[in-house]
Amino acid sequence: MTTLTSISDTISATLAAGWSLPNMKDIIELAYMISAGLFIFSLHWMSDPKTARRGVFAGVAAMAMAVLFTWAKPDVTRHLWIIIPLALSVWPGIWLANVPLTAVPQRTALSHAFGGLAAGLVGTAKFLYWFHNEPEMLTSFRVAAIVLEVLLGYLTLTGSVIAAAKLQEVKWIPQRPWVYPGQNIVNLIAFGVAVVGGAVLIVQPTAAYAPYIFFGIVFLALNFGWMLVMPIGGADMPTVIAILNAYAGLAAVAMGFVLDNKLLIVAGALDGSSGLILSIIMCKAMNRSFSNVLFGAFGQVQAKAAGGEQKSYKPETPEDAAAMMGQAGLVVVVPGYGMAVAQAQHKVRELYDQLKKKGVDVKFAIHPVAGRMPGHMNVLLAEAEIPYTDLLEMDDINQDMPVCDVCLVLGANDVVNPAARYDKNSPIYGMPIIDADKARMVYAVKRSKNPGFAGIDNELYFLDKTRMLFGDAKAVVGELVKNLAPSASMH
Ligand code: NDP
Repeated sequence: MTTLTSISDTISATLAAGWSLPNMKDIIELAYMISAGLFIFSLHWMSDPKTARRGVFAGVAAMAMAVLFTWAKPDVTRHLWIIIPLALSVWPGIWLANVPLTAVPQRTALSHAFGGLAAGLVGTAKFLYWFHNEPEMLTSFRVAAIVLEVLLGYLTLTGSVIAAAKLQEVKWIPQRPWVYPGQNIVNLIAFGVAVVGGAVLIVQPTAAYAPYIFFGIVFLALNFGWMLVMPIGGADMPTVIAILNAYAGLAAVAMGFVLDNKLLIVAGALDGSSGLILSIIMCKAMNRSFSNVLFGAFGQVQAKAAGGEQKSYKPETPEDAAAMMGQAGLVVVVPGYGMAVAQAQHKVRELYDQLKKKGVDVKFAIHPVAGRMPGHMNVLLAEAEIPYTDLLEMDDINQDMPVCDVCLVLGANDVVNPAARYDKNSPIYGMPIIDADKARMVYAVKRSKNPGFAGIDNELYFLDKTRMLFGDAKAVVGELVKNLAPSASMH
């Protein structure tokens, strides 16, 4: 009791001496700073598998703080307008979080679509509110920010929906680039019209015709999304998604300027720059230029699957393959999209354990664009708790390939296709590959004779040293494990 009295006396004395307790505005600013810091740490931690989980939690905490402290702002009075969207977002959030790992790229695209929609709607609401109620707020700077926000926001919305549909291979969207003569010119003219409209709006934001121009820009922005994404082939969609990520981030930055919210500016800039960096990394890994991804459909006819002469595969049984692997000094596993489809990572872990028990050195060769999203293989193998130290980047593992006894190509195709080195007509020409063909012996696991993502044959499968293990990756690896198990060798 005495302690409480003395604390209250101290506070009263401090206040009397001219100090004041921090007001809500200061507390919110402080929370925003902490939140921005958490976002930065979150990105930093997510760049390493060891700290990635912490990074995810930091990101969630930062976003939760941002929402709660924005809600706590004194000028937020209509709480129902926050509660309703929060309630509405729960189900789509849970649904998006539960899609299978193979659908994560399209899931990411849908998240960007929601981000773009939010930016577009906020920009539209702000413009209309200020136009009708506080026209003096429509300064040139604010209107320029709104135009940018609305353009990027709605463009991201429709572009991301098309990208998600292409990745999901829905029937009503063509997978191949959708092009028509003069497409570039039409796009440029439409863009020019939007720029002129934006300029007029900035100069005359309160003119009676301003809302018509504004909705003209919204209409064009909604069309830009599909106009930009339809001419790009399905194979380039993951890169396009990273670019749309950058657009969504920039839209958030513009929204931050419109709403005078520093946290949105910081978070949007982080989002935008990480999207841009990611798309550059992906382009590099595929040896493509940015413009080649965005406008690659123009002028260049890509070679299709090499038809003609029939080459023959040499099938092998899991028993023989397991025997060979059990005697190897070094086994390198090259995982690809097929491992993700089959969800074979846990069986792969069992294979890893069995081989290790036999004293075989096992390494995993991670190609930067194996699978359908950056880090796809790392995520799956980490889920199966395979030590990070045995996951090697392409450049590191390629040095070891000539001394590798057995290379197990597990549902990977394009990332081990030697044609990338020399065939100038190949769509993957110039893409750095894992040198599986340099190993002493190759086992390739796939279900059929179908090509991989790029739609081309893979001569690796026809080499003298290559044997095919046809079947679902999970089932085949399961067979290998069975044959390597001590009980199997006793028979
Ligand atoms: P690919 O798509 O080239 O090959 C996958 C292989 O897995 C196919 O040969 C397929 O053959 C096989 N497969 C599919 N399902 C199964 C299954 N259940 N069990 C066994 N095998 C299966 O994949 P890669 O990982 O080698 O290459 C990735 C491609 O995606 C590259 O072209 C890359 O450029 C592209 N890409 C990747 C991005 C990324 O960020 N990761 C981004 C942009 C593009 P079958 O049907 O006969 O079983």
